[in-house]
Amino acid sequence: MYDLEEQKIVEEIKKIKAKRILIQLPEGLKKEANRLVGYIEKNTNAKLFISGESCWGGCDLPLEEAKKIKADLIVHFGHAPFFNPNFPALYIETKYKTDITKLAESSLEYLKNFDNIGLVSSVQHIHQLDNVKIILENNNKKVIIPEAKGRAFYKGHILGCEYSGSKLMEKNVDCFLVLGNKFHSMGLALSVDKKVIVIDPINEEIHDLDSDKKKITLRRLKLIEKAREANIFGIIVGMKSGQQNFSVAENIKNKLLKNGREAYILTMNNVTNDQLINFYNIEIFVNTSCPRISIEDIDRFEKPVITYTELLIALDELKFDRDKNNIIIAPYGVK
Ligand code: SF4
Repeated sequence: MYDLEEQKIVEEIKKIKAKRILIQLPEGLKKEANRLVGYIEKNTNAKLFISGESCWGGCDLPLEEAKKIKADLIVHFGHAPFFNPNFPALYIETKYKTDITKLAESSLEYLKNFDNIGLVSSVQHIHQLDNVKIILENNNKKVIIPEAKGRAFYKGHILGCEYSGSKLMEKNVDCFLVLGNKFHSMGLALSVDKKVIVIDPINEEIHDLDSDKKKITLRRLKLIEKAREANIFGIIVGMKSGQQNFSVAENIKNKLLKNGREAYILTMNNVTNDQLINFYNIEIFVNTSCPRISIEDIDRFEKPVITYTELLIALDELKFDRDKNNIIIAPYGVK
């Protein structure tokens, strides 16, 4: 059901005369690797290598691996361009090919109390935005698609850490409709003070995220309370190619020192409980790598791992509004 654009890859390899290619697939598409390699090797003279490391976002290009194997092109599947890697990279966005007309029509029941709808999508379904917009407009809804801001590559595009376009137009809508999955839409729900409904074309489901958002927010508030009382902080800087937020980490360290706390900057590729647990003296971690690790992996961590925004709330530099109930995921953005 995904468009892997094999012909486009072959044309690009021939165009730039690439000889050694590193392909990188997200976890759910790794099963396609051998078929893709077979197709590309049959249609070009290039040698193919498959990155076996985990890959969760466009922030995670395997630049070091590519240099070590002397690759002259990375083919990255599953995401839009996220940062300038200064290395030849072809992004295959893996559009999901299905007709979502029926799901869009069913979503009208969830939207019946709202007139002004903010419409956004993850990159896999971005080509469906105009179709869904027409369906909503034909049912007397006013639809606004936000501009591409921050790391968003397209109008209406959201990522797990990028919702600034939606936040900018939030005051003009009553509700958001997302084409995507619970991961992307929950990030939006935690970033805005409006109801968020998600159409999930892959599982053919529609969800209202209100109750999950409330549960997550309560758990985040408990971590913020722990941060208020903690004295020794570890500040995590992710070493993945698009996540190296050193200036944010140094800024956090200065804030903590000014507030009379101890703070240490830790670098790591993957942020896991096994990596953190040996730093027994550290009471709490502030994560400047992928902000969703703090939220999604909460049950895997034995010690609290909070986001930058949550730290600002703990230090009383940012006010958490209990009525609005929204925690902004990554106001600093990732590189
Ligand atoms: S930082 Fe996290 S949410 Fe953002 S693109 Fe990377 S993996 Fe996705």
